[in-house]
Amino acid sequence: MAQTEPVSLDDELFREIILDHYRHPRHRGLLDPADMASHGHNPLCGDEVDLSLRVRGGQVEGVGFEGQGCSISMASTSMMSEEIQGKSLEQAHELIGRFRAMLLEGQDPSSLAGIGDLEALSGVRRYASRVKCAMLPWTTLEAGLKQLEGGHEPAGD
Ligand code: ZN
Repeated sequence: MAQTEPVSLDDELFREIILDHYRHPRHRGLLDPADMASHGHNPLCGDEVDLSLRVRGGQVEGVGFEGQGCSISMASTSMMSEEIQGKSLEQAHELIGRFRAMLLEGQDPSSLAGIGDLEALSGVRRYASRVKCAMLPWTTLEAGLKQLEGGHEPAGD
């Protein structure tokens, strides 16, 4: 009888999803013009993300990004871009909340409706140093949305 490795099928599947997004990023390339542009940086790992969004009638009409960094940060950016394309800004905020709940609050992804492929990143929470890598595009998006919805540049404080 063959010995089986103690690696779950989920782990294997999740690794493949992450590597696929890292090697073939979706929505790569910044939009010009864009309604939202936001830059994020994770100094702990050296990850950088530039995110651009085109928004029409409260819907995300287009998403584009440029970035460099580890496979976790880039896969997370690609997956996020794919998920928020076509969503309303409200849904984008909800997704940010769910992703944060999964990674930072340890919520079971199966209890988070609509988390989809993002569940592949749930294993990252076991590695404290990588959580910031996975969170980077989400905090970058959140900062950009805040600025967009405020309608102004932050007033110098
Ligand atoms: Zn990283």
